[in-house]
Amino acid sequence: MNQQKFDCPKCKKPTLSNFNTSEGVVVDFCDQCFGIWFDKDELANYIELSKDIPEIKEMKEQARKTGLACPKCKGTLEELPFSSQTNILVDRCESCGGIFFDAGEIIEAEKASAALETLEDRMKTVVKRFAEQGYQPV
Ligand SMILES: [Zn+2]
Ligand SMILES: [Zn+2]
Repeated sequence: MNQQKFDCPKCKKPTLSNFNTSEGVVVDFCDQCFGIWFDKDELANYIELSKDIPEIKEMKEQARKTGLACPKCKGTLEELPFSSQTNILVDRCESCGGIFFDAGEIIEAEKASAALETLEDRMKTVVKRFAEQGYQPV
């Protein structure tokens, strides 16, 4: 089986591989840094939210440009908080809206989402499913 590999924005090497979740959402894991890439709406789809980043408008105001390249469209990633309740920063592509979580950030997001009631169970489920499927961030 030939898998298409994408360049990890952090490792800058083709280390991102497709991963089909049992829900039919495709995410990309980095073999090297254990970051996770979600294409636009994948995260929202996965956790049944209307938006990948629930408070995107407010969060965009705090966005900071990074020099990192989007693995999918080669746009530029900007760093912004995942939510106002957390200090987790995610990297989001300005052009295609994909999101990159560093290793363990998704776990932190799960913990922090306790503050966002609707998010809590969903993020817990995400992390549990990933772990069941072999995802072990360092
Ligand atoms: Zn990586
Ligand atoms: Zn992009």
